[in-house]
Amino acid sequence: MSKYVLVTGGAGYIGSHTVVSLSENGYIPLILDNFENANRSVLNGLHKILGFEPILLEGDVCDNDFLKSIFLSYEIHGVIHFAAYKAVGESVKEPLKYYKNNLLGLINILNNMIEFRIKNLVFSSSCTVYGEPKGIKEMIEETPKNSPNSPYGWTKWMSEQIIEDVIKANPSLNIAVLRYFNPVGAHKSVFIGEFPIGKPNNLMPYITQTAIGKQEKLIVFGNDYPTIDGTCVRDYIHVIDLAEAHVKAISFLESKSGVLEAINIGTGKGLSVLEIINAFTIETGVQINWEFGPKRKGDVTEIFANANKAKTILGWEAKLSINDAINDAWNWEKKLAATK
Ligand code: UDP
Repeated sequence: MSKYVLVTGGAGYIGSHTVVSLSENGYIPLILDNFENANRSVLNGLHKILGFEPILLEGDVCDNDFLKSIFLSYEIHGVIHFAAYKAVGESVKEPLKYYKNNLLGLINILNNMIEFRIKNLVFSSSCTVYGEPKGIKEMIEETPKNSPNSPYGWTKWMSEQIIEDVIKANPSLNIAVLRYFNPVGAHKSVFIGEFPIGKPNNLMPYITQTAIGKQEKLIVFGNDYPTIDGTCVRDYIHVIDLAEAHVKAISFLESKSGVLEAINIGTGKGLSVLEIINAFTIETGVQINWEFGPKRKGDVTEIFANANKAKTILGWEAKLSINDAINDAWNWEKKLAATK
């Protein structure tokens, strides 16, 4: 039987890498994307990696008629729901845009899954639901959720609540909520990677764009945090490892009935901003033009995953290192510059 997995946001950064992993593991991904925040050249990149064109269903997850037509046309085995807005700063300026898109998309997915009796859902959540860690910086899934620092974060927090309530009322659903830490890197082939729109918000693309000369200078946000060197600490996870976690999650759900599991997807190790900059220079031999600037509003000081649950229940753990991620991100940046 064909195992169709609907991947909403399948042309995006994490979505496209997950499409590769799914295909490599015998699933047939159906890419749903409206290309609002994805680059069409991803399709060409996927074709080159996979050797065939993946199925594209172009449209918006908030358009319920469109979504319904997909569930009517394919016997869907599971859904991986990535499609959502993700720019923290923009969400502060336009909260309603974020609440509408991110919550309506999930509600439509859940409604159709219930109507068409589709059981398995992997939901793309974030460590932002933990808010600012109180005390221990290593998060376990039982760590109580805290107030996120942006409307974007709240959409993930609320989505998790929606999922919790919906599964209580519909116990035949199986849902894995993956709480990502900081995804970085690109596919080794450099046929797919991240396409930040405008100035990058995230550290790794900002570093690679500064290294290539697209950005003049990296500003390190704050130097007096109570951390190893005064800069914030995060858990950077290679996007390939992250993509594989989704495939493991789908396969875990297949054998279950009525489960809801929130699972951290990280390496279990925290690195500071300065550690990342130094690692980049050592790994690539390229110096970054950077200086300290003011703290960014809403940044948490230090957070990293306890990734034991992912290992125990999914049989997943991060295999790639920060150096792999740096190399792949840098090769991707150089490729983007060369193909301009
Ligand atoms: N950061 C920085 N300069 C930048 C972008 C990010 O110093 O131009 C820092 C940021 O303060 C945080 C870390 O890099 O400590 C990771 O930020 P990112 O936005 O990539 O991820 P976040 O953890 O905030 O979602």
